[in-house]
Amino acid sequence: MLNTVFPRINVDSSALGFGCMRLPTTPDGAIDEAEAIRMIRNGIDRGVRYIDTAYSYHGGESERVVGKALKGGYREKVVLATKLPCWLVKTHEDMMRLLDEQLEKLQTDHIDFYLLHALGAERYKNMKELDYMSFMDEALRQGKIRYPSFSFHDEHEVFMEILHDYDWKMCQVQMNILDDENQAGLEGIREAGRLGVGVVIMEPLRGGLLAQPPEDVRNAYAAYPEKRSPVEWAFRYLYTMPEVITILSGMSDMAQVEDNLAIFDRATREPISEEEKQLYRDIKATYLSRMKTKCTGCAYCQPCPKGITIPDIFRGYDQTLLREGGSFKDRYAKIVAEGKDASRCIACRKCERSCPQHLPIVRYLQEIRAVSEA
Ligand code: SF4
Ligand code: SF4
Repeated sequence: MLNTVFPRINVDSSALGFGCMRLPTTPDGAIDEAEAIRMIRNGIDRGVRYIDTAYSYHGGESERVVGKALKGGYREKVVLATKLPCWLVKTHEDMMRLLDEQLEKLQTDHIDFYLLHALGAERYKNMKELDYMSFMDEALRQGKIRYPSFSFHDEHEVFMEILHDYDWKMCQVQMNILDDENQAGLEGIREAGRLGVGVVIMEPLRGGLLAQPPEDVRNAYAAYPEKRSPVEWAFRYLYTMPEVITILSGMSDMAQVEDNLAIFDRATREPISEEEKQLYRDIKATYLSRMKTKCTGCAYCQPCPKGITIPDIFRGYDQTLLREGGSFKDRYAKIVAEGKDASRCIACRKCERSCPQHLPIVRYLQEIRAVSEA
């Protein structure tokens, strides 16, 4: 396992972090607890030092299962990160109440990295008005948390503002081969590194898009002298960045755990070559040329007042375009059956005002609807 250390606070971690947002489930949708615990413990036994969960994952059940997995001495072997669901915080007192609930579910007396979850401009303003800073100070004083942190989905300028506004110890951002100029972007990551704020990466595979590339991308990888799987190429892009401390992988079965462990056992911090940089640029260009919406899946446009699942529709559509000869009709029909489709849109444009990519969401929805219902 490639071991890493958070700057300034000197906390040991691993380049691979276990993301507990997509744990294995049973047919009724509940977490398959026995298998999830086996996977998490196998990861820790093999060198994973960073466990990531959140209040909201698996409808609130992820924290409870992680708490069970970390019993029997496993808690002491890892740094534990969880996130305050900012959207549920209506008063200052709500923050400590939610933290106490999380500590109980996780069966621990402290959280190492405690994040304000999914900050953007509006949410940050609200949290500031509710005085999150004095809450963090008090939680630190009581020993309930160790390192105030945040996760982020918005534009670069907003990231810079939040990054400089408090003594953060870690930031969790979306980054992958396709997103170097989106959200915090590479510039944001470099600035965090300059400030000594450790960077944790989410969405390294862009919701799975980078794990199953189209044929022309597969051919480009195959033509490169060094052979790596698409997943390894995607992780390599990130673990070679000096500012990146941990990369979260939301592992759903043991095979993924094993594959990820093998990749991070081989990994080194040695910088990527100019040839590799060119390969990544070519791969990104190929992907983007074949995608229509280029939605990053950040879900910042949610919730839509009409219940339209915009990220599902956009990502599903783009994924279909990337697959040779695929059709989005079946998947769209399911979204229609669930009552979450584009026909409900009233063009209020609430979503467009929130979209960090400034996507013409209403127009795209109508175009996708036209081809999917034809
Ligand atoms: S414009 Fe349509 S999709 Fe966007 S928030 Fe309004 S109803 Fe929802
Ligand atoms: S449409 Fe925009 S806000 Fe919504 S998920 Fe995609 S990129 Fe994010």
